[in-house]
Amino acid sequence: MRAVDIIVKKRQKLELTSEEIKFFVDGFTHSQIPDYQVSAWAMAVLLNGMTARETTDLTLAMARSGEILDLSGVVDIALDKHSSGGVGDKTTLVVLPVVVACGLPVGKMSGRGLGFSGGTLDKMESIPGFRVNMTTEEFKKQLKKDGIVLTGQSLDLAPADGKLYALRDVTGTVQSIPLIASSIMSKKIAAGAQAIVLDIKVGLGAFMETLDDARRLATLMTDIGRLAGRKVVTLLSDMNQPLGQAVGNSLEVIEAIDTLHGHGPSDFHEHCIQVSAHMLVMGKGATDLESGRRMAEAVIASGAAFEKFRVLVRAQGGDVAYLDNPGNFPKAKHIEVVNANRSGNLSQVNARMIGEASVLLGAGRGVKGDPVDHAVGFVIHHKVGDHIKVGKPLFTIYANDVTRQTNARKSLQSAFGWSEKPVAPLPLFYE
Ligand code: URA
Repeated sequence: MRAVDIIVKKRQKLELTSEEIKFFVDGFTHSQIPDYQVSAWAMAVLLNGMTARETTDLTLAMARSGEILDLSGVVDIALDKHSSGGVGDKTTLVVLPVVVACGLPVGKMSGRGLGFSGGTLDKMESIPGFRVNMTTEEFKKQLKKDGIVLTGQSLDLAPADGKLYALRDVTGTVQSIPLIASSIMSKKIAAGAQAIVLDIKVGLGAFMETLDDARRLATLMTDIGRLAGRKVVTLLSDMNQPLGQAVGNSLEVIEAIDTLHGHGPSDFHEHCIQVSAHMLVMGKGATDLESGRRMAEAVIASGAAFEKFRVLVRAQGGDVAYLDNPGNFPKAKHIEVVNANRSGNLSQVNARMIGEASVLLGAGRGVKGDPVDHAVGFVIHHKVGDHIKVGKPLFTIYANDVTRQTNARKSLQSAFGWSEKPVAPLPLFYE
């Protein structure tokens, strides 16, 4: 078999066989197929799609590119969650400690920034010393001991996804339903998850812009989960505007810490409570969503959830002094509050434009392996539906470079839409 023939076959909109998919995945996992061929193939998949059968084969081949964890004997139910990617989405940083504080262990494998969407691993690496490359043995040991793990793909777990993910980030090949479904589900299967809550983002700042596409992704991932013997619940949540206020790595960690202390932005707090409640019900830690909600609120109020976040960070080598004192995080050189230049009601806070502007500020990558600047990003002070008076703060820029700051200011100003008439707030969840 030759990689080029498989690329051409996909370019011709033909269905790949299981053997061809396995050959291709094994080839790029072991660096026998170079990045340029993998990129060409990913673009062909993005343009021409894959059948459900091809997507399932791709998922299983990527999951099997490394070890598949068996967590029986480590936890009663291996519980997990994953977001399909968005702007300001720091949900994992709150939901993991909340669910663990409610008594259910969670070991999760996350990703890095992808296109305009931030990544949990990049956010966590804002905390000096925090390690995201654990071995399977370390993963299991920590899950058993501390009940909480947050790691990335390693040479052991779904390495094929790690490689493909990094290429998709910089080759315009993120927005593909089969590539997203297989990326997420391969990680979940490899990490041994038995019950998974999938938070599928819909809107301008999501990879799925329409509810129809989000439903298609939800169905595909649920089907893959069923074939692999995993239970899946999918939530479709809004991503037209950023979640919470902070966009950018350390800014988001600080907002997650505030939320764990009970004073995060109300939309983000409520989003985390709902995702936690679903995980608690799936993991049999709560009998219904209402009691799941109450449990999640209680561990935030008591400080038990924040304490679990400290346990996680300490266990993976991170400096907890940054959690106890968020003022320790390095500050960007230029911090500028930009005020509204008119009065009116906000009709749009375009999450895509804000995510793209944050990448250009340095919070994301332009080419594979680029370092990210953990200090830069934005705080967006308002939500769709808010009434704002001229001269009031609209957003704050955190930049380390004056030219990038100027460009970011221009982009963000055009991300806001205004209306003279009252505007209804956006819902948090659609389905
Ligand atoms: N999250 C992932 O892990 N993979 C994707 O492709 C998108 C979001």
